[in-house]
Amino acid sequence: MTKHVVTFIPGDGIGTEVTNAARKIIDATGVNIEWEECLAGSVVFKQGLATGVPEETINSIKRNRVVLKGPLETPVGFGEKSANVTLRKLFETYANIRPIREFPNIPSPYQGREIDFVIVRENVEDLYAGIEYMQTPGVAQTLKLITRKGCEKIVRVAFELALSEGRKKVHCATKANIMKFSEGMLKQTFEDISKEYPTIEAHHIIVDNCAHQLVKTPESFDVIVTTNMNGDILSDLGSGLIGGLGFAPGANLGNDVAIFEAVHGSAPKYAGQNTINPTAVILSSLMMLRYLGEFEAANTIEQAILVTLQEGQALTRDVIGKQDAASTTAYCEEIIKNLGKKSTFWKARNYTPLKMPVISRAPEIVKASSKVVGIDLFIQSNSNAEDLGKSLEEIVSGLPIMLKMISNRGVKVYPSTGTSLDVVDLWSCRFMSEKQVDMTDQLICRLLEKVSLSYTWMHLEKLTIFGERIGFTKAQGED
Ligand code: NAP
Repeated sequence: MTKHVVTFIPGDGIGTEVTNAARKIIDATGVNIEWEECLAGSVVFKQGLATGVPEETINSIKRNRVVLKGPLETPVGFGEKSANVTLRKLFETYANIRPIREFPNIPSPYQGREIDFVIVRENVEDLYAGIEYMQTPGVAQTLKLITRKGCEKIVRVAFELALSEGRKKVHCATKANIMKFSEGMLKQTFEDISKEYPTIEAHHIIVDNCAHQLVKTPESFDVIVTTNMNGDILSDLGSGLIGGLGFAPGANLGNDVAIFEAVHGSAPKYAGQNTINPTAVILSSLMMLRYLGEFEAANTIEQAILVTLQEGQALTRDVIGKQDAASTTAYCEEIIKNLGKKSTFWKARNYTPLKMPVISRAPEIVKASSKVVGIDLFIQSNSNAEDLGKSLEEIVSGLPIMLKMISNRGVKVYPSTGTSLDVVDLWSCRFMSEKQVDMTDQLICRLLEKVSLSYTWMHLEKLTIFGERIGFTKAQGED
């Protein structure tokens, strides 16, 4: 029997109760796993380590490459980063897999609808990279960076997952109609790569409509691939459809490391009470068993969970209410007792190994000729649009540059469009080189030198044309 070594992080709050439940059930199947217990999260923060993840834990993960993890608290304050996010990013676990399916006896308005879909969420890019700047004391900015390589990896995982689970459809949910470059990159990549998977239906869907359709006809979805923030929101919506966070498992997959954990957090108010539902972590550990190639053990546990829920002899508080609830340990014992039984509720899927895409680790360089035709210079000023515009026009006179327009919060305010708008003290001033010649760095520096004699500029963006493609958007109202 193959021996596996797994890094085991019990986690904070209810973490110890739920992860130990999963570990006990797995051990009861006889699978040969050596658990290497490691720390992360609140105890580590309390020791003064701002990452929340000590060196020993990182080394254990590097060695074992497979992790079963409980939820980790994120300290609310400044300085400390989320240990969960640190772990996901440190090991480039770029695919967050969140299955959503109906379970027997679990009250929900969707009972009997046979909900069974998987959200494949990009896990390391997007707004969750947490790259933020205060532009002025009253204006905050978060960067949403989406890469072509990141899109390719997540889209391939979605199609490969569909194949490995015998699924027929993949939806790509984006907001490409508004964020044409970033969300549009995922849409374009999806459309390109879907051609390589002719046996799987591929559909693009706008993400807000996807939320709407998930509430209306959740049973019509099979696999949904989406960006980080959209995926986070849609998957919580999904867990609401099937009876709550107690039934929402997850996996963070990369090419080197896989981290298995529930969607839920540390639910501190239930910590140490032995009342919490451990199913989500147990289901996450089934995903881990399949990842390790232990399909039989995973199927055995899955059936035992279904039988336990179907028979309803020991159900946890979130399912049956406080009065009749079984403890976490009693529920767990019941699952162990039911190992080997088969449920009549659900036809088992034929899982096959998931092939993770092999994509070079080398930095991706997408080649295209480029020409800088202008800059957006963000200026902090208490002035009004009219005065600022006139004064900037005066400042650039004599340079081969023109002030095309000024926008505030993404809307053109100079030259005025005649509408009255709320404005803040951060103005985006679009300077274009005359006759579309290259705006060299030297020219930009001369412009900055002149502007900074009168104004405080906060940052600038180069306006670039890549090949035939204009690499910047227009402000609302800009022609
Ligand atoms: P949470 O821990 O997920 O708990 C929110 C609520 O969800 C609970 O109060 C409970 O609802 C329900 N719930 C969660 N787990 C459950 C389970 N196993 N069985 C039944 N019900 C369950 O979210 P939070 O309170 O926002 O976050 C607490 C801490 O966890 C925070 O520090 C957060 O940063 C962290 N967190 C960590 C992770 C992670 O490690 N991946 C994920 C999310 C949050 P009722 O109150 O209705 O019973």
